[in-house]
Amino acid sequence: MSNKKKFEQPIVDLKTVEELSNRLLEANRELKHAEYERRSMIENISHDLRAPLTAIRSTVDYLTLKNRSDVEDITDEDLSTFLKLLDMRTRTLEVLVQDLYYLTCIESGSEKFKFKKVPIAQFLEEYYFAAEIDEKYADYELVLDVPEDMKEVVAIDIAKLSRVLDNLFNNSRKYSVVGCTITLGVYQVDKDICIYVKDNGQGISEKAIPHIFDRTYRESDSRTPEEETSSGLGLSIVKSIVEQHKGKVECKSKLGEGSTIFIYLPKIG
Ligand code: ADP
Repeated sequence: MSNKKKFEQPIVDLKTVEELSNRLLEANRELKHAEYERRSMIENISHDLRAPLTAIRSTVDYLTLKNRSDVEDITDEDLSTFLKLLDMRTRTLEVLVQDLYYLTCIESGSEKFKFKKVPIAQFLEEYYFAAEIDEKYADYELVLDVPEDMKEVVAIDIAKLSRVLDNLFNNSRKYSVVGCTITLGVYQVDKDICIYVKDNGQGISEKAIPHIFDRTYRESDSRTPEEETSSGLGLSIVKSIVEQHKGKVECKSKLGEGSTIFIYLPKIG
């Protein structure tokens, strides 16, 4: 047999091999990043679970006399303070566990989406009028910015998109002071519609903006105002739900001026 190359054209195109190998490397990077995110989330959640649990444990120990010799000390006022503390810490745990479970179910696909075609203007209007009579927002100014002639239809899971708006409205309220304005609006951008929730509250630092939708993000140990219960997963839930709608999220914010969260959804037709 001669040593001369018999076949000029290789069966496997080298370019295709290179492309495949690049794709594999990219998939591997994504996998590592997902693994890193998963681990950091578990770390953060474990940390967040520990704080209220420790507070509950020491309050219960105190009330059940384990660390207390002078039994007479507890007044009715003390008792009511302790109960309030227990209530708050238990609520923190509940919210954390519920949000974590909800996010996991959405991401694993076990939480099913029921898409329905709805005129987006009507959906937003109904949400807005329900918020307007909600006690939580009684001290805030709510504004609806929906164009009169907006006829666009989108396929949404009504309950889940309402959850998205709940989370955004709650954040606007939590990170603002009484009297601030929260605006719910919508406009068209090419083939999408863009829903936005805007506030003129405390705003988000430039450094933090790229991370607020991460499951692992925490701005500081005391992420939310003292009296609020929150899991730190609110915006991750928003992002996951929006992505299941084939949409995307964005944030614009300036410290001291306020924040706007944009939700882009593909419109039908
Ligand atoms: P949290 O439970 O901490 O509110 P989120 O996932 O809802 O968790 O938000 C993540 C972080 O993004 C918050 O801790 C806060 O720092 C910032 N953030 C979100 N929405 C707003 C807003 N409207 N104004 C200011 N900061 C916000």
